[in-house]
Amino acid sequence: MKEYAREFYQSAAWKRARQQAIKNANGLCERCIRTGIYRAGAIVHHRIHITPKNINNPYITLDVNNLEYVCEDCHNKEHSTKQHKRYGFDQNGNLTPPAPATPPGTGKFSGKKRTGGERSKKRYGGAHI
Ligand SMILES: [Zn+2]
Ligand SMILES: [Zn+2]
Repeated sequence: MKEYAREFYQSAAWKRARQQAIKNANGLCERCIRTGIYRAGAIVHHRIHITPKNINNPYITLDVNNLEYVCEDCHNKEHSTKQHKRYGFDQNGNLTPPAPATPPGTGKFSGKKRTGGERSKKRYGGAHI
């Protein structure tokens, strides 16, 4: 929790708004349920994120329409995608992943030696008579 928001999150008004949001969502994550998954929510999220500038604006901090009850996964997604991107784009507009997924191919072709089967040629002994 951010320091500037500490007081807000302890206020009775917030606790009331929070309870209302949970009630509206029936205690389930509002995002998961849209994909058909019934999952208990964990965090009341502000659709418009709280900042030091709007922390005193009840139309943002306490309006149920700005609240969303979500599970921890959905909440993490919401905040991680907007704040620190892990993927970037290079000059050509190609997606650049943060790190290579797997190390370059490790030698599959080492080791095995071909053991050519013993060639036992029948000797055609004996001359034709
Ligand atoms: Zn969820
Ligand atoms: Zn949030």
